[in-house]
Amino acid sequence: MAVPSFRLDDSVALVTGAGSGIGRRLAIGLAEMGADVGCLDLPQSDLASTAEAIGETGRRAVALPADVTRAEALAEAVARVERELGPLRLAVNAAGIANAAPAEDMPVEQWNKVIEVNLNGVFLSCQAEGRALLRNGGGSIVNIASMSGTIANRGLTQAHYNASKAAVTQLTKSLATEWCDRGIRVNSVSPGYTATPMNRRPEVAERVARFEADTPLGRMATVDEMVGPTVFLLSDAASFVTGVDLLVDGGVTCW
Ligand code: NAP
Repeated sequence: MAVPSFRLDDSVALVTGAGSGIGRRLAIGLAEMGADVGCLDLPQSDLASTAEAIGETGRRAVALPADVTRAEALAEAVARVERELGPLRLAVNAAGIANAAPAEDMPVEQWNKVIEVNLNGVFLSCQAEGRALLRNGGGSIVNIASMSGTIANRGLTQAHYNASKAAVTQLTKSLATEWCDRGIRVNSVSPGYTATPMNRRPEVAERVARFEADTPLGRMATVDEMVGPTVFLLSDAASFVTGVDLLVDGGVTCW
């Protein structure tokens, strides 16, 4: 038997959160592995630069300004990807937000907003993508969760974020089993501390040294280091992998 391919040649993919950080790098990485990519993010984000970088790889990109908390916007985005690029087969859901407040002081609006984007947004994205994949005979979805779904980060008061990410890994397992007999695999990648704009928030800026000390590999990840694990899960090389949460955390959860 031939070694299964890690490539994504001529597949059509949708990536949410593609205007910044991990989502942007993953959208470009999927194109580097041969996919055409629909790039979704909020209207104010810099989708143009992601689309331009994808163009430089020789693949096609469509910029999709949309909010992952709006089901109609996601349905329209999927329809546009399919109109302009072809039948959807792959999806990565990386859109997310983070902030912090002590649990005893956190206003319910702050709790709800993080749950709305990080959990409801991933569910609605999977739903819109899953409907297309079911129509198209299958495919593969990767949700970007976090190691914060497995551990509570030392020194960070972000109960809402941690809870949302734990829920994403359980949502992933649930969808994996619902769609397992219809050709769709659903997995999650859980990054550890990664150098992105999320880690330049004022409340975490001073903590980077602590993040690095808490990481057995001694540093934060680069966004480049999220590409291989995500591509693996999307590709035929992972054809027997579904419902898995792949921790890409430099060993943090070992300590
Ligand atoms: P980022 O640079 O802030 O990228 C997230 C992107 O999602 C931003 O462009 C953001 O737009 C967008 N977004 C926010 N709300 C949205 C919505 N309602 N609809 C559509 N797009 C929306 O952050 P990142 O660090 O790359 O994070 C990407 C994913 O990795 C997130 O799910 C995050 O929780 C996860 N993660 C990150 C780390 C880390 O250390 N960086 C660790 C573990 C997991 P705005 O900038 O306008 O908000």
